[in-house]
Amino acid sequence: MAIKTRDECLERLKEAKPNVFMLGKKVDRVWDDPLFRSTLNLLGATRDFAFDSEYKHLSAVHSPLVDEPVRRLNLHLQTSKEDAIIKAKLTREVTSRRICAWCGSNVMSVLWAATYDTDQKYKTSYHERFAEYVKYIQKNDVDCCWGMMDPKGDRSLKSHQQKPLTDLRIVDRNKGGIVVKGAKVHTSFGPATQEILVVPCRSMTEEGRDFAVSFVVPIDTKGITFIARPAPAPKQPMDMEGAIGSAIGGVEAMTVFDDVFVPWERVFLCGEWDMCDRVPSYFASIHRQSKCACLAGHTDMLIGIIALTAQVNGLDMTVAHIRDKLTEMMMQAEVAYGCALGAAEAGYQHPSGVWVPDALIANSGLNYIRSQAGHHLAALHDIAGGIIVTMPTELDYKNPATKEYMDTYLHGSNDFTTEERLRVLSLAQEVGASRFTGYLLGWAVNAAGSPQTNEILVRAAYDLDKRIEIAKDWARITK
Ligand SMILES: Cc1cc2nc3c(=O)[nH]c(=O)nc-3n(C[C@H](O)[C@H](O)[C@H](O)COP(=O)(O)OP(=O)(O)OC[C@H]3O[C@@H](n4cnc5c(N)ncnc54)[C@H](O)[C@@H]3O)c2cc1C
Repeated sequence: MAIKTRDECLERLKEAKPNVFMLGKKVDRVWDDPLFRSTLNLLGATRDFAFDSEYKHLSAVHSPLVDEPVRRLNLHLQTSKEDAIIKAKLTREVTSRRICAWCGSNVMSVLWAATYDTDQKYKTSYHERFAEYVKYIQKNDVDCCWGMMDPKGDRSLKSHQQKPLTDLRIVDRNKGGIVVKGAKVHTSFGPATQEILVVPCRSMTEEGRDFAVSFVVPIDTKGITFIARPAPAPKQPMDMEGAIGSAIGGVEAMTVFDDVFVPWERVFLCGEWDMCDRVPSYFASIHRQSKCACLAGHTDMLIGIIALTAQVNGLDMTVAHIRDKLTEMMMQAEVAYGCALGAAEAGYQHPSGVWVPDALIANSGLNYIRSQAGHHLAALHDIAGGIIVTMPTELDYKNPATKEYMDTYLHGSNDFTTEERLRVLSLAQEVGASRFTGYLLGWAVNAAGSPQTNEILVRAAYDLDKRIEIAKDWARITK
């Protein structure tokens, strides 16, 4: 079986020697660095899921390319409506439990379609190369991070107009391959993976042809440096506080490419500037359909935490405002999930074989649910009360000098012990009032593209003229 266990994957990490810096120091042993523990656990969980008796029929899927099972959310090409529907179902299940499904397969499907289009226009052979690469990562169950987002410097300027140049570009083309320079930012989990898959993040003009580049290289390729940011997790696993961050999290990184050589067989776009927009365009359909389901899952998780927080405080769904707020959140989660399913249903088959969900529905659903993220956190604070911001810490609860006071004065509902109440309030604090909260919000608002990108796409895809014609009909205006 192609799918590797988390232990096999950890062993493989020991062989890589990426150049990683974090908190002002060089990190040489990613695989046993405490600051990477929660990230490795998150990545490991994507593998556990493929062996889980309850979910493996969904999370492991046969790949016709290699005639072996692969991890659906990480390495499977989405080639049918059913694929897109199962992906949404699974994504919601995973994110409601573990925050991130790490849906790397979306970028594979995006590049599968984009390389096909480039070859059609330029008679290149990028698609064939990429197909060979996909077979390789499926057979070896490789973890790839995504290098899509350029630093973009001054947002009002194009890549070639930046001073200094920041975005990733080709600086040399030779017989063996290309040499690239620049950076990608927001490379989630980068140093804990094996390869970095680079794609353009926006359209280019002819002057930007050197920025039209896509390729993949191992993370320890000469010239690559990761400057990483720790996941929002306690340094040491805690018993009560930071329960989620102690278990799972994401190291983020900016990735610098300082004259990195890429052999031709790993290059999937090189100078065809007018094809750059294919990547963000397919991404807007394929990945944002996933994000609708992902944020439905986050909303589910928050609903559970809020409801339990109310219970430890002696309240429940019979209290009108709690019932109303939770009911509203339930409906919002279902609307977002409905958009994930609807976008899958209304999608189309790209000539390369990839199933492309409907962009209008996916972007509308994502924009809607992400616009609610702040309200959900406000509801958590409202229902949990100020205690989640002001409560003494776990260390004080573990200290005999203060434990008894806390046991007495922080007692809530008699259905729960004080310790149980404090555990639930700590969970509410982690998701609503900690560094983790900011990460969760960033995940909702910006991951998969900013809210404006949804709005631009919806305006472009919505048939406004058709609706104006209907209005004119009723108004009996004929011009
Ligand atoms: C948790 C997390 C994980 C991520 N993981 C990855 C990853 O693994 N790989 C990856 O490649 N990316 C990743 N991203 C990046 C993500 O896709 C971007 O953050 C997102 O696309 C927004 O881009 P930006 O951060 O550069 O913000 P900007 O695009 O700078 O947006 C900031 C604001 O400026 C506005 N703006 C920008 N340009 C213009 C303009 N020209 N005119 C008018 N207004 C403008 C926007 O509308 C927005 O309001 C991740 C992000 C997050 C938060």
